[in-house]
Amino acid sequence: MPKASKKELLRLSKDHKTQLLISKFVSDELGTLTPTFDPKQGFKYSIIEEIVDDPSGTDFFLQKMFDGGVLGRKLYDKIVHCPSCNSVNVSTHYICPHCKSFDIKKSALIEHIKCGYIDTEDHFQKQDKLVCPRCNKELINPTLDYHRAGVWCTCNQCTKSFDIPVPTHFCRECEEKFTFDEAIYKDVYSYTLTPEAAKESNLGFILTVPIIDFLEKQGFEVESPGFLNGKSGTRHMFDLTAVFKGKKKNTTAIDIVTSTDDVISEQSVISMFAKIFDTTPDKACLVAIPKMSENGRKMAALYKINLVEAKDQNSALEALKVCIEN
Ligand SMILES: [Zn+2]
Ligand SMILES: [Zn+2]
Ligand SMILES: [Zn+2]
Repeated sequence: MPKASKKELLRLSKDHKTQLLISKFVSDELGTLTPTFDPKQGFKYSIIEEIVDDPSGTDFFLQKMFDGGVLGRKLYDKIVHCPSCNSVNVSTHYICPHCKSFDIKKSALIEHIKCGYIDTEDHFQKQDKLVCPRCNKELINPTLDYHRAGVWCTCNQCTKSFDIPVPTHFCRECEEKFTFDEAIYKDVYSYTLTPEAAKESNLGFILTVPIIDFLEKQGFEVESPGFLNGKSGTRHMFDLTAVFKGKKKNTTAIDIVTSTDDVISEQSVISMFAKIFDTTPDKACLVAIPKMSENGRKMAALYKINLVEAKDQNSALEALKVCIEN
């Protein structure tokens, strides 16, 4: 398994589609991503198709997530494709090793324990009873009177008998018959979020996804991370920038800070102020989860930074909506 660098994981985790994917795992919507089987299209990952918009991009996206260390995978199934039309609507034909016909009959072999007679089940069948053709005793108890001694096949075409048929395939789409040698045989995986990716996906990171969706619905052009050029010539990075292209261009800069402690220090207010002082966006919002320190609150008011304090994702989004609409 390739071990992706942390840098690659971080690079990927800035991508909106990757964030959507991770948010599905983290929000408990998804524990393990397992494919569903469709006889026409083969294995499908519906959630991934929604994320990438285009079903043909699913395999490439999953491979990228695996290579980048976002997803781990486990072999879930193997799938046979027809070598001439690539269909997965393929059946297995067990064929006669002598004449290659698939018109064979599979029977169970039964041994009468008392007399040692072995034959196929149909030779023991008398109406709804099992009776030994050699000694004419009825077989009643499956453990005391008889046991199943394997299978026996008979070919309806050449009438020869054999114990092991040869497995081959039949394509129901183009009617091609093919062997294992000729078959396209592919791995199918189930996926889980790697512990590394789960660690990167803190609350702030996950919060950006619904915020982007909300702002885009309001008609904003959103970048995450977003960059604004400062008067000083420095390019400053914000967690998000939202530009409203109405009669008058309107830019909002948003930063998100989270803490597992009780309060967030005023340092985040100071560093945001340094950036907005240089870049002068029309509006600046600082999302603080769970809450800002008393000092930070005062400074935000002084610096005209809209402070959004919320204890969780949903209330942060609600508060941010109010802040944007004002
Ligand atoms: Zn085919
Ligand atoms: Zn045969
Ligand atoms: Zn017998």
